[in-house]
Amino acid sequence: MTQPTPIRRARAQQPELLGAALTAAARGWHVHPLRPGGKGSALHGERACPLIGVCTKGHVKWEQRATTDPDRIRIAWSTGAFNVGIATGPSGLVVVDLDVPKEKSGKDSSDAPSGATSFAALCEHAGVPWPATYTVRTPSGGMHLYFQSPPGVRLPCTAKSVAPNVDTRAWGGNIVAAGSTTAAGTYEAADGTPAVTLPGWLLQRLQTAPKPAVAPAPLLIPGQATRRAEVALERETARVRNAPEGQRHDLLLKRTIAIGRFVVWGEITRDVVEQAFGAAGEAAGLPAAECRSTIHDALAYSARTCRARETA
Ligand SMILES: [Zn+2]
Repeated sequence: MTQPTPIRRARAQQPELLGAALTAAARGWHVHPLRPGGKGSALHGERACPLIGVCTKGHVKWEQRATTDPDRIRIAWSTGAFNVGIATGPSGLVVVDLDVPKEKSGKDSSDAPSGATSFAALCEHAGVPWPATYTVRTPSGGMHLYFQSPPGVRLPCTAKSVAPNVDTRAWGGNIVAAGSTTAAGTYEAADGTPAVTLPGWLLQRLQTAPKPAVAPAPLLIPGQATRRAEVALERETARVRNAPEGQRHDLLLKRTIAIGRFVVWGEITRDVVEQAFGAAGEAAGLPAAECRSTIHDALAYSARTCRARETA
């Protein structure tokens, strides 16, 4: 039996994903569609804004478009098997993202404790038990702890500034909701209790946390390709454009497969990849129809074989 591809799996889950979006919205959380099987917004980014529809008077970002309106949610999720994103800011949420360290083996031999270990130490230092609040387990083995932002407080996101492998998402932040599925697995609500108010000790830490030294993780900029996916796409399409006759088809296939993993990981949209490689293949002298079918085959191969993003 063949393994279902992430895309096929996502399609079969469309009703569940709609259900997940409605459940989150019923809790008062503002949801927006993420790419099927991915973590980036399915809504267009500012650079790709067509300035029509909701954007007639200028681009409206995903954070503003995220909604709790069940009718709008039903319409949005009727058009695709979108994962569910929660815009933490307008939802009045502060979500603590506890990551697991990257592979201990290999070049990243970081001994940094896991986010859960770091957070347990913070709780101990504050003299409080681990908070009982709405919690989601991530496919990578991490955890998202949901808290309600105290009234009148507007917190930004933090990245690794509170403790090792501990990020927080508030205004400007997006979190993948329970019920969403990536190639790595499904986000599952581990604790369905309501989100409690952010404890004072944690609020204090967040208000005094130094500004992040590094840019937020690239996947947190929905609606656009991540920088590394963009760079890779530029590099690989250039190879195809300059392919000598006799190697054009082979290069188009292999280079598209190489980029296909970014599509699977939700770091770039499929149509951007199709367009870029189509143009490159044609520039190299291949017929448009051959480009289309080769790119299609390559992306299908990537979807079948691509492994989960290690740092998901
Ligand atoms: Zn727009």
